Amino acid sequence: MIIMMNAPAADQVRRVQEKIAQFGLESHLLSSPDRIIITAAGDLEAVNPEQFERLPGVERVIPVATPFKLASRQFRGDATEVAVGAARFGGPAVPVIAGPCAVESYDQVRETALAVKAAGAAMLRGGAYKPRTSPYSFQGLEEEGLKILAAVGRETGLPVVSEVTDPRAVELAAAHLDMLQVGARNMQNYVLLKEVARANKPILLKRSPAATVEEWLMAAEYILAGGNPNVVLCERGIRTFETGTRYTLDINAIPLVKLLSHLPVMADPSHGTGKWKLVGPVAKAALAAGADGLMLEVHPCPEEAMSDGSQSLTVNNFRQLMKDLAVLSAALGRGESPATAGGK
Ligand code: PEP
Ligand code: MN
Repeated sequence: MIIMMNAPAADQVRRVQEKIAQFGLESHLLSSPDRIIITAAGDLEAVNPEQFERLPGVERVIPVATPFKLASRQFRGDATEVAVGAARFGGPAVPVIAGPCAVESYDQVRETALAVKAAGAAMLRGGAYKPRTSPYSFQGLEEEGLKILAAVGRETGLPVVSEVTDPRAVELAAAHLDMLQVGARNMQNYVLLKEVARANKPILLKRSPAATVEEWLMAAEYILAGGNPNVVLCERGIRTFETGTRYTLDINAIPLVKLLSHLPVMADPSHGTGKWKLVGPVAKAALAAGADGLMLEVHPCPEEAMSDGSQSLTVNNFRQLMKDLAVLSAALGRGESPATAGGK
């Protein structure tokens, strides 16, 4: 349940919290300059929202039975739009975030950025902190990688996104990036979620391969409850019994999240399949299922990539896919074509 209060007095807020406690529910208070939102979680069976509506200072009570409240469709009926520079997620356009798995050098990022921008990408990606399965694999250029991304972003006008893996690096990363990514392995790193909630940048929250949609939305709830309303979800494949692909991109999750939540949801068919030949067909499936954006790994020379070369598109393949996506987007009546969603 969500209780909205319009400029209430302190004792009015206290009364609401006391009533929540009487029902054995847990309350959480969120304040912004013009209003106070109190969430009540627990067994809501015996609770009649009218009992709260009658209390002084209460503007509106929204009964939300799901454990995620601020992320729910009941809380906000309209889709939330998250803007990152000219790219807008959750609106009529379908922005494409493209770039290499890892930032390897200034030249590699610049060459990729110019090519993906010319093909219509709305944002540039590249990992500076790489969470790798093996401690002996390339771990990323770290701060140097962030600086390269920021420089190429400025040069090309593309907003940049990169993963942050450590709460201690959030401030530094936020100084260089337009959007912070919480990767699949860290989706339930609650210390990190609380830290990015305090950053003044939109967050791209990837789904853990082992998380249910509800757990994923609860992770988003941490960021929203921490005061950051700009969250974009990203389905990137879950672990199933199938070994023919790296993960199984859960297409179901896209329309399901859109039913349950007002947050934009995009898809990453690169990590979802692990095979570049499957990226195009699965990107199209995600777009058709209603994805609000796509993340695609692109490398000027995938066979020489320091990570994820086998799932990276060449520049030529990316260009062709963007053309195909524009045709599909028009056929689906999805607003702007992905190739112009960057607004450039
Ligand atoms: C990535 O996008 O670079 C990445 C590591 O993805 P994921 O967290 O989905 O594995
Ligand atoms: Mn990768």
